[in-house]
Formats: sequence, C-alpha cells, structure tokens
Amino acid sequence: MTITAAQQWAAFKPIHTPEDYLNSLRGRATTVYLFGEVVAEPIDHPIIRPSINALAKTYQLALDEPELATTQSDLIDAPVNRFLHIVASPHDLVMKSRMQRKLGQLTGTCFQRCTGLDAISVLHSITYDIDAKHGTSYHQRFIAFLKQAQRNNLLIAAGMTDPKGDRSKRPSEQVDPDLFMHVTKRDAHGVYVTGAKAHMTGGLNSHWICVMPTMNMGSDDKDYAVVGMIPTDSPGLTFIYGRQSCDTRAMEKGDIDKGNAQYGGQEVLVVFDNVFIPNEHVFMDGEYEFAQEMVARFTSYHRASYVCKTGLGDVMVGAAAAIAQFNGADAASHIKDKLVEMTHLNETIYSSAVASAHEAKPLASGIFMNDQMLANVCKQNVTRFPYEISRLAQDIAGGLMVTMPSEQDFDHDVAGPLLHKYLKGRGNVPVEHRQRMLRLIENMTLGRNAVGYLTESMHGAGSPQAQRIQILRGMEVERKKSYAETLAGIDYSDTI
Ligand code: SF4
Ligand code: FE
Repeated sequence: MTITAAQQWAAFKPIHTPEDYLNSLRGRATTVYLFGEVVAEPIDHPIIRPSINALAKTYQLALDEPELATTQSDLIDAPVNRFLHIVASPHDLVMKSRMQRKLGQLTGTCFQRCTGLDAISVLHSITYDIDAKHGTSYHQRFIAFLKQAQRNNLLIAAGMTDPKGDRSKRPSEQVDPDLFMHVTKRDAHGVYVTGAKAHMTGGLNSHWICVMPTMNMGSDDKDYAVVGMIPTDSPGLTFIYGRQSCDTRAMEKGDIDKGNAQYGGQEVLVVFDNVFIPNEHVFMDGEYEFAQEMVARFTSYHRASYVCKTGLGDVMVGAAAAIAQFNGADAASHIKDKLVEMTHLNETIYSSAVASAHEAKPLASGIFMNDQMLANVCKQNVTRFPYEISRLAQDIAGGLMVTMPSEQDFDHDVAGPLLHKYLKGRGNVPVEHRQRMLRLIENMTLGRNAVGYLTESMHGAGSPQAQRIQILRGMEVERKKSYAETLAGIDYSDTI
C-alpha cells in the first residue's frame, strides 16, 4: 500500500512529557505476538510495560535535568532531547555518555533509545558521503526527516541485525533471500522492503524504525543495501516479543519478587512484508560500497554507548553495599575490597567511553565520531566487567538470593511469621528490605534485567570477537615495533 511521507507525519503529535509518550503508543495498529497470542494493547501488558517505562524515563530526564538531557539543535533552532541530537562536538559525546550513565542509574536496565541516537549521526555523515560520490540527494532528505523528528520529539530505533541465515554465504547467495532485508519493488513513489530485523532493542516502543544494512555488501547485494525510516505501526510489520529470564514474574501479584518492578528492557523480532518506504524516507538504495563504512561508524558510536552499563554498575555497587549492611557484614575488610574492585571495573568502562568521546574526530559532513579504538575497548570491557561485578555482588549477597521463598510466603499467616523470624538480618533492618535488595541483585544478575546487564553487554553492538577484530585492525603493531627497535638499537638496513 502506498502512503505519502506527509500522510505518515500527520499521524504524529509533538511529545513533551512521559505521559504524551505513553499516549502516543496507545491505539496503534501494531501486530505483536507474545506467548502465542496477539497482544491487544502492548502498553497495558504487564510484561511489556516495564520496557515502556524505561523509555519514558528518557522524556522525564529531559524535564528534570535539561542541562544533561537536552541541547540546542541548530537544525530547528530550538532545544531538543539529546537522543535526537546530531553530534556536533566531542563535548556532545561526553554529555551523551553522562546522560546514558544517569539513565542506567535511574532504570537499572536498557532504556532502548541509543540505537536511534547513534543512527542519526551515522546517517548525517554517510548520506553526505554518498551524495558527494553519486550526486544523490539523500542528505537533504535525511535532514528534512530529522527536523520533523526533532520538532515532534519522537523515538527512533535502529533495526540493523538481519537473521543472516547461512553465515558462510553473502546476502545474495542465501537460499531464502529474505534472510537479509532487501528491496522487492521500486516505483516512482518509493521502495518496498521484505526481511526481518532480529534482537531489535525497543523496536515496539519506538515511533520510527530505521532499517539499515548489517554488514558489508558486494555488487551482487545492491538490493540489500537499503536504508529507510518506517513508522512502527506501518502495514506489513509483525513483532514477535523476545522472552526474558523470569519474565512471568511480571504477571504475579506484588512487586517484591519482580526485583525491579518498574523497569525492564525489550528485544523483538520484527518481520517486514513488502513494507513501503516513500522516497523522502529512503537514505540509501543500492550504494552497496557504503554499507561497510556505515556499519563501522554505527559500531563506533554504539560501542561507546555501552557506557550505559556503568549506570547499572553503579546500581550493582549500591545494592551490594546495601545488602552487606543489611546482613551486618559491611565492616568486613573483604567486603570493602570487593566494593572497591567492582567500582574499579565499572570506572574502567566509563573511562574508555569518555576517552573515546574526547578523542572524537570530525567527519566530512561536519559532525564528530568517537575514536574507534577506544570505543571498541569500551565495548570489550563491557563484554567482561559486568560479569565480574555481578559475581562479586552475588558473593556479597549470599545464597539467600537464590533460596529465598516467594513474596506470597512472606505474607502467609503461618509461613510469614516464620520467615520474618528466621530471615532477620541486622537488628533494625526490616526483613522486607533484605528481600527487596536481594531480589534486585537477582533481577540484574539472573532475572529480567540480566538480559540488559549481562547478555546484552556480551552481544549487543557486536559480540566480543567483533571488537577484537577492530582492535586487531587498529593496533598498528608495525609502528609500535619501530619504537622498540629504535630504542633497542636495531637497524635493519645493516642486515639487508
Ligand atoms: Fe542504550 Fe545501552 Fe540499551 Fe544499547 S544497551 S540501547 S546503549 S541502554
Ligand atoms: Fe544494543
């Protein structure tokens, strides 16, 4: 079905508050599957709602701390949410890191808005570069799109990861062409795309999905080299919700056993069946030689965005310190040492992210991009340190974290008093405080938010090996050998 860009924009109203954002998600024509059923209204589903709350926090922070979470946009000459801001300086990247850490502290989970943030800066630079080579007009199209998104304060999510099928084959070599998103038809008004995007963070909670290639492309893959913006409730989209460990606790009574009752992350599989993208919202169509550079720029921004996990690390350090206190163990020197170790690991992640921001370099379109090496080091740190921080938090928490009875048993006439008697810790600390803190640590290291804190830290923005390949490419061993050889007094001209 053909729809114009103007018709697509007519569906949006400017968002000023978290409530506006929640309202913007109501009554949409999205098809969402969860537990084998179509979800009537996702925002009201107890498993989905915490992920929406986490995103709503990005709107709240802009109201509470505008100096951190908003900034001036030269495009529309007005303040905008930092998640819609193009990176105009290294300082912008530092502020972005601070904002991401803060949101991690406030939600204890993945707040899902950074893929769009990173995608818009990538698109700013890559459309500029494509136009310079091919004489296309993608850059102006993109700027027009971004101005509208900024004015309406909308949420963009990047859909990058194709299912990929047989990893030994290129997109055009797959038995099933749909395993990589591709253009199925073109007409005077736009293009139609089919395929799927997997592990899509916050896809269902967004207003626009930016589909973009997941890897380098060859000349046979032209139809797969496509970038476009698609409204999340467009005809032809199907969302299938990703399960998370312990997710059905969200369906239980009470809020203690949920660990973090308010906030959670979200990953969805999104299937696109001949979805129309009007020309105004197509930002690459066939320029396959730019796919690899596009992915490299995205990962450079996004791997530093994983500084978000330092906010979660702050929560872990705080939770471990609190439970040690509730248990009466906080004066022990080994507890303090473990908290120091957790903090050291967490700040090491932060330092690599912020260093990567400070070392940003300008691109041809005039915006700045993180230092690639340090961004990869940051993400490589993130694939490891949250696991060690979690191990230490579990060590401090003690085994009760995984043997503690349910909230319902604590409330039971007979079992409840027994639990309150025998699970008492330090004298003046209510048993419920112990319960809550242990459940939070469980939530972040084994439960729903372990998806965000641990496995997403491992695989999001590329699995560990992807960073190691980038580090290998950038480590300049020959240059470093020459330093050593000079100091050691080795002169190869003698031996040739
Ligand atoms: Fe943002 Fe972190 Fe979630 Fe990625 S994992 S979307 S960087 S909060
Ligand atoms: Fe991610």
